[in-house]
Amino acid sequence: MVAQRIDGKAIAKEVRGQIRARAEAFREAHGRAPGLHVVLVGEDPASQVYVRNKERAAAKCAIAGELHRLPAATTEAELLGLIAELNAAAEIDGILVQLPLPGHLDEKTIVDAIDPAKDVDGLHPVNAGLLVVGREGLRPCTPSGCMRMLDAIGYDAKGKQALVVGRSILVGKPVAMMLLERHATVTIAHSRTPDLAAEVGRADIVVAAVGRPGLVRGEWLKEGAVVLDVGINRLEDGTLTGDVDFEAASARASWITPVPGGVGPMTIAMLLENTVQAAERRVERSS
Ligand code: NAP
Repeated sequence: MVAQRIDGKAIAKEVRGQIRARAEAFREAHGRAPGLHVVLVGEDPASQVYVRNKERAAAKCAIAGELHRLPAATTEAELLGLIAELNAAAEIDGILVQLPLPGHLDEKTIVDAIDPAKDVDGLHPVNAGLLVVGREGLRPCTPSGCMRMLDAIGYDAKGKQALVVGRSILVGKPVAMMLLERHATVTIAHSRTPDLAAEVGRADIVVAAVGRPGLVRGEWLKEGAVVLDVGINRLEDGTLTGDVDFEAASARASWITPVPGGVGPMTIAMLLENTVQAAERRVERSS
């Protein structure tokens, strides 16, 4: 079998078109664009690229984006002060604090301070809890992007064996909950899983979210499996690669996401969708 590629760029473009239409309708109805404020602390080069991409994508989708750049030496009190201001501002619908933060800042304290109704990263414990109990809330962007890719290829996860490799709060756990919600039988593998190859071999769908190039070997896959590769790893020669051995996996899978151009573009699209959704819900609640 030769796998078909799931084209994240193309799917994300289509999603951005829908978001733009919703954002414009919102502006028409409420006299302002949905507002997304991104907070960047310090000079982490990868974070600089991510926030620039988010700013650009927001502008393309008729979302009013603003970036708050703070020095690496910003204190916790200063950052909490800014978050309190953003929480209180009526025209701001989404707040994203770019992670990782410099070591002296406690990420949990900072994320907990964001108003859950504006937590467009979906990382606040209230939103994580809403996902677990199957209620409406703001959901983490990368896992939502994975689900949107399954929709785009018309894949029904019901009754399927799903394997999620990785158990982070950002990707592994929420993607597992979303697959469970779609009635898959879900296994979560992690660094203490003794036989990853055997787990992969049983799975109809594999989501790899680890951060280790080529960890999931192509020959481990069940024939016809669907593979979503979330991993982003920069090799010594500067190229990006995923957690799955793409070439070997392509010979066995039915569908596979490339890296780059797979899950990555979907993550930003879902952030913008969360922003519009947050704006719509906030207006709904206040009316
Ligand atoms: P993370 O917080 O470092 O979590 C990595 C997970 O992988 C952990 O649960 C860890 O297990 C598990 N793991 C480590 N070694 C393993 C092994 N040998 N076998 C099985 N599991 C193993 O990372 P993350 O934030 O979830 O990100 C994962 C990857 O996705 C990274 O490459 C990141 O850059 C990428 N990412 C991409 C996007 C995107 O938009 N495409 C978004 C977010 C993240 P333990 O819990 O036991 O330590």
